[in-house]
Amino acid sequence: MATCARDIIQEPIVAEERARYDTPMRLICPSCQAPIPAASINVERDVAACAACGEAFVLSELVASGHEEITEIGSPPRGAWFRTGIDGWELGASTRHPIAFFLVPFLCVWSGFSLGGIYGSQIVKGEFNLGTSLFGIPFVIGTVFLGSAAVMAVVGRLVVTVVADDGTVFVGVGPVGWRRRFRWDEMERVEEEDSTTRSSGSSGRVIALIGKTKLRFGSMLTDSRRYFFIQVLRKMLQGTRKKAL
Ligand SMILES: [Zn+2]
Repeated sequence: MATCARDIIQEPIVAEERARYDTPMRLICPSCQAPIPAASINVERDVAACAACGEAFVLSELVASGHEEITEIGSPPRGAWFRTGIDGWELGASTRHPIAFFLVPFLCVWSGFSLGGIYGSQIVKGEFNLGTSLFGIPFVIGTVFLGSAAVMAVVGRLVVTVVADDGTVFVGVGPVGWRRRFRWDEMERVEEEDSTTRSSGSSGRVIALIGKTKLRFGSMLTDSRRYFFIQVLRKMLQGTRKKAL
């Protein structure tokens, strides 16, 4: 009985591992960007050697750092898109999240009671109370934070745009939001990291775009949208590296 239960638990992991190594892996050499042929990859010993420059690498590290060549970008999951233009591309996703069903009513009740009780009563009575007003400040801040999270969970979007070598990460609603600019040609790799801040609707994972600077974003994306972002960003980085050679 005990072995049976263990077999069931282990089965999916083994199957996943097998699937990963059965398909021929295509890796990119981090030193010279040349493709590493399948014959130079040793899964058992966890090494991959580049035929072009002769350097050897730890296989699992190459895979983890995104040096696996992505031959094809899968179709975008619902709520995500990828468009290419003449001199650039746009990768975006809605940050719509089921947490909104909880967050919106919670915000209405919580903010309604706290702010209504603290400030509403003063307005109704027509007299200002400094102590009570100061006491209310954390509730105002809380409302602003929760409010923006709720808005993002209903109508927000995350868009990465690259035109020539100018990149922008936009998080917001319509034209209103937070924009961070970066140089696409200074970016080297894309990784998935643990989020340092845990906010409502967050999966706990973020996308890290790493180069001379480091950008972290995407904590509000669903798993499938975040995975799509990572896949497209890695693919586009590989294309940029090839062009530069
Ligand atoms: Zn090499």
